[in-house]
Amino acid sequence: MKVAVIIPAAGSSSRFNGPNTEADLLGMARSKLDEDLGGKTVLQRTIELFNTHEDVCQVIVAGPHDPEAMSSFKLRHADRISLLGAELVIGGKDHRWQSVQSALDTVSGDATHIAIHDAARPATPPELVDRVFDAAKRFDAVIPVLPVSDTLKRVSVEPIDDQSEADPLAAILGAGESNPMHEVVGGVDRVSMVMVQTPQVFAKELIARAYQQDDLTSTDDAGLVERLGEQVVTVQGDERNMKLTRAGDLPVLRAIMNVHGQRSRASHKRF
Ligand code: C5P
Repeated sequence: MKVAVIIPAAGSSSRFNGPNTEADLLGMARSKLDEDLGGKTVLQRTIELFNTHEDVCQVIVAGPHDPEAMSSFKLRHADRISLLGAELVIGGKDHRWQSVQSALDTVSGDATHIAIHDAARPATPPELVDRVFDAAKRFDAVIPVLPVSDTLKRVSVEPIDDQSEADPLAAILGAGESNPMHEVVGGVDRVSMVMVQTPQVFAKELIARAYQQDDLTSTDDAGLVERLGEQVVTVQGDERNMKLTRAGDLPVLRAIMNVHGQRSRASHKRF
């Protein structure tokens, strides 16, 4: 088995920065992949999950699509990416699947399998990577999943119009959207539901075929294989394999990894 690993890293970190924050409005949003995890960036930690793995023959990082954002991304990450033996390609403009699609063009002819892993999941335990890779030797499409512990409900797509509570000034400034209220429209049986993680691993031919379809809209890669009518099998995921999405996830992630963020030096030790 020779695995090419694709790491989509072209996201905008909008949920991490929060909607309508000062940074967001001024276009100065911070990339969650730059956050410090014990002296290494989130992106570096993610690449290091794979670059020395015996089954991995190639690691491809899909960075920002926009040229200006890509130049800045290169300044921050390119040295480390190449030191770790990974390759950098231009990612998708608007969607994760576009980033994966762009990286697929760079996959080596040697690879037998393709693993796709969110750049924002730096804490994946090595045993989870091995579990998914081992299963991929027997099945052509493998994804890690977790059972759902909370009750699930289906809700209206659009929030309800809660005029009674509206603060006119907040409405003008766009605030209040962070607490949208929706109407419950049905229940869901959670017994047959799972939460899906990455890395997702596929036989190369299968994922290449999945990405040749006309409709590629999907929030994960297995969804495109399902659309082909092909089998996707699950292995047990891991609670520690969390995705850094919102700012509040960062301290949790650091605790899981048992690392600190960058410490500010005491003022008497500044020089
Ligand atoms: O937004 P979310 O955290 O779900 O994204 C999952 C992964 O996909 C992240 O690593 C992110 O950088 C990546 N992504 C991407 N291109 C996009 C959107 C997300 O590569 N347009």
